[in-house]
Amino acid sequence: MSRYDCIFGMSIVASPPHSVPGPSPAGKVGRADNVPLPVRRTPAWKTALQEAIRDPAELCRVLDLPREVVERTAAAARLFGLLVPRGFVARMQKGDPNDPLLRQVLPLDAETLDVPGFIADPVGDGDAKIAPGLLQKYAGRALLIVTGACAVHCRYCFRRHFPYSEAAERGRPWEEAVAAIRRDSAIHEIILSGGDPLTLSDGRLAALARRLAAIPHLTRLRIHSRLPIVLPERVCDEFLNWFARSRLTGVMVVHANHPAEIDDSVAAAFSRLASAGVPILNQAVLLRGVNDSSEVLAELCEKLADLRVMPYYLHQLDRVAGAAHFEVPQDEGLRIIAELRRRLPGYAVPRYVREVTGAPSKMPLESRL
Ligand code: SF4
Repeated sequence: MSRYDCIFGMSIVASPPHSVPGPSPAGKVGRADNVPLPVRRTPAWKTALQEAIRDPAELCRVLDLPREVVERTAAAARLFGLLVPRGFVARMQKGDPNDPLLRQVLPLDAETLDVPGFIADPVGDGDAKIAPGLLQKYAGRALLIVTGACAVHCRYCFRRHFPYSEAAERGRPWEEAVAAIRRDSAIHEIILSGGDPLTLSDGRLAALARRLAAIPHLTRLRIHSRLPIVLPERVCDEFLNWFARSRLTGVMVVHANHPAEIDDSVAAAFSRLASAGVPILNQAVLLRGVNDSSEVLAELCEKLADLRVMPYYLHQLDRVAGAAHFEVPQDEGLRIIAELRRRLPGYAVPRYVREVTGAPSKMPLESRL
């Protein structure tokens, strides 16, 4: 499941608002020849994204946090800016600088430390590029980086140093990537990733999905997105209209790490997806100070399963520069997973995996038990 809309000069809301035919609510809008003009409106999710908090001082003010907390954010925020939607902030506990949701988004001095073993590209994205914006690591599927923008900047993100401006194809977006997919009949599934693909407008995404659906050997279209969690209004009718109706089978992989991330608005977004027939999977990252206990993860997994979302992966942290303070040792993770197995039905226990550069799949860690 980024971001650097500022660093890479990308606009978070990159496309013009789409058109909705018919008169405006205020009455008929027409030219002299009485042909109604299309009424343009900005979807609620785009407005919420534009109004997201980007200033650590404002975030601390909203959460009643002391001034010292703001002071500890400055250096890290210069490297990777703060971005968090207000709806996600509303799920945080006021006055608690260690809130597990806040910890995921608040820049900290610890990010500026140079820790051996923590590097810019810990998962070998650079070596996996097969066309502009197209990565392939595993058989049968390929990953299309459709944007560098996100709705939230997760401090532990493994792509926090990804060169999005280099990945992007100039001029004709995704042309070479789509051509490469068309040439390789062994690819059956495309994963839209980024950044976060759902920061793009439905018009652009639907047009891309149509181009992909016209490739006969493709059967599935998977979206990896954190927006259904941090900005659940993104799961709107316009989105479901193209995603759930595509010839390609749609799969949604969301990203929640802590049960407090899932409130009624997120549950409603899951319900809209599930009712449209879209399978939903969740991937979480094991994070120190966020979800490093079997109690927290059991609550997350039960909540997800109750809402028809399958806990899919629990990722060992990718060792990206700036995120060392989030790392939980693998042995501790294995103990947590073993405890989850004792507490939960098998289908509600995520696979504990780590990504290893050059490996043919995510590496399961549990077999070491
Ligand atoms: S984890 Fe996903 S949503 Fe978070 S910053 Fe990275 S790409 Fe964006």
